[in-house]
Amino acid sequence: MTVPEQWEPRETPEVDPETAPFWRAAADGTLLLYECDDCGLVFYYPRAFCPDDFSPNVSPKPATGTGRVYTYATTDVVSEWPSDDLPMVSAIVELDEGPRMLTTLVDCDADSIAIDDRVEVVFVPTDDEDVAIPVFRPTD
Ligand SMILES: [Zn+2]
Repeated sequence: MTVPEQWEPRETPEVDPETAPFWRAAADGTLLLYECDDCGLVFYYPRAFCPDDFSPNVSPKPATGTGRVYTYATTDVVSEWPSDDLPMVSAIVELDEGPRMLTTLVDCDADSIAIDDRVEVVFVPTDDEDVAIPVFRPTD
C-alpha cells in the first residue's frame, strides 16, 4: 500500500483515547476494524463497545483493506480543496469484511467510477505523524 501523491497532508481529525489505536494503525499502514467478542459483529467506526449489543468485549481486527464502491458522488467545487484534486469523489466503500465506510476515492478518473468497482485502501498523512487518513483507489 502506497501513499497517493495528491492532497497532503490532510487535516488532522479529532483523536480521542477510543479512536487513537485506529489512527495510529492507519499511520502504520493498517486499516483497523473492531470485532465483538460476544456476537461476532465486525464494525467501523472504532468505538469501545459493540454497536449491536453494547458489549464492551471488542477487539481490534486488521482489515484486508479491500472492498467495493457501494455508492459515490462527485463534487466539482469544494471550498479550500486544492483545485488539482477536483472533482472530489466522496464514496461509501463496503469492505470485504462487511462494514461500510464514508471516504473519498483517489488516483482515479471521476468519470469512469462505477458502483461495485473494486477498491483498496491507501493512507494519506496528516501533520500528526501518528495519524493518517484511510482513502481508497480503484484496483481494476
Ligand atoms: Zn456484539
